[in-house]
Amino acid sequence: MNHFEYRNGEMFAEGVALKRIAQEVGTPAYIYSLATLKRHFKVFDQAFAKARHIVCFSVKANSNLALLRAFAKEGSGFDIVSEGELFRALKVGADPRKIVFSGVGKKRQEIEYALKSGILMFNVESEEELFALDEIAAGIGKKAPISLRVNPDVDPQTHPYISTGMKKAKFGVDIKKSLETYRKAVSLKNVEVVGVDCHIGSQLTSVTPFVDALAKVREYLDRVLAGEMKKEGAQIRYLDLGGGLGINYHDETPPLPDEYAKAIIQGLEGLDITLILEPGRVIVGNAGILLTEVQYIKETDTKKFIIVDGGMNDLIRPALYGSYQAIQPVIENNADKVVADVVGPICESGDFFAKDREIARPKRGDLLAVMSAGAYGFTMASNYNSHPKPPEVLVDGDQYYIVRRRESLDDLINGETIPASLQ
Ligand SMILES: *Cc1c(COP(=O)(O)O)cnc(C)c1O
Repeated sequence: MNHFEYRNGEMFAEGVALKRIAQEVGTPAYIYSLATLKRHFKVFDQAFAKARHIVCFSVKANSNLALLRAFAKEGSGFDIVSEGELFRALKVGADPRKIVFSGVGKKRQEIEYALKSGILMFNVESEEELFALDEIAAGIGKKAPISLRVNPDVDPQTHPYISTGMKKAKFGVDIKKSLETYRKAVSLKNVEVVGVDCHIGSQLTSVTPFVDALAKVREYLDRVLAGEMKKEGAQIRYLDLGGGLGINYHDETPPLPDEYAKAIIQGLEGLDITLILEPGRVIVGNAGILLTEVQYIKETDTKKFIIVDGGMNDLIRPALYGSYQAIQPVIENNADKVVADVVGPICESGDFFAKDREIARPKRGDLLAVMSAGAYGFTMASNYNSHPKPPEVLVDGDQYYIVRRRESLDDLINGETIPASLQ
């Protein structure tokens, strides 16, 4: 459920007409609905009410400070994958004891920053990282709380680029070999084993892979870790199941949070552990759109192109994953349907939002809403072709706030210098 709806033939975000935002803020622009964001967070969190749990919003899905602040106020923790994301989370007053740090390539300065900030745990993805953590923690007189990200070798049935829990992935350590790594971890003086972690992929549209992954982790916990680790004096207190719950972009029917939670809670029965969840897309995906304006209609012998002012630089998902984004007219359009590619201004044939899409024929100047753009939209935006990044707008009831201003031309060259020898 989201708050982007037509009223009298015109699309609104909550109580604000998108046309008004376009007039006042310009296009392209990202627009988020605060009511939708909060609702999605609450529904997800409440689905797990029966289990001791922490929801750690995955910052990489959308890292705007206003959104992070909204989640922090709802009690959210954060799943971070860089020092930049940690910086953002701390900026909005996040509780460091609800921050988990994932990622295969954590650098020394990132680890130091996270240790000094007192985060809940590092989701360790390799043995070398474990040794690095031990050494860095020793250097600053801290102990690094860790969980091992295990790779359960489960196929999440999603796009290969966002499939992370199969044997061939760069993520985590093979679950079958992880006992060795755990043994090494408990032998290290400046590392404290506190959990086990797994994240198998993103945009999953069935509970089965989650259930399979949990079963494998659970079996491993019960059979191997519980006894072994206890003997070594370690206690597995956290079970982090990552994120990955999918959303409806087109005709997918992902499980609802309740169904997902029920399956997971069932798989945890009898286990005395705090569950950690790292949802990203399911919270923000359908809470945002990219508003764009039609610049030109171009017809060739074989194709029609609707050329808009947003491009792969603003929203790369279609270009990168071939993914589907629904596109709707902001003012309802009863013109004949045409089959067209919706493309941006970028000098690449990969720059498209839709291919061979049936759409009511728009005119130059019409506004289109690229739906479901709240996750992995702005966070993956770039300045390719030297386009300033679009603004981000947060709608709250009948008010809207520019929560990130449109970049200026000066922003584009910020930090660049011409050496004296060229002057
Ligand atoms: C990307 C990512 C997530 C969030 O995935 P969603 O599909 O957006 O829920 C959670 N945890 C880790 C480790 C990730 O890399």
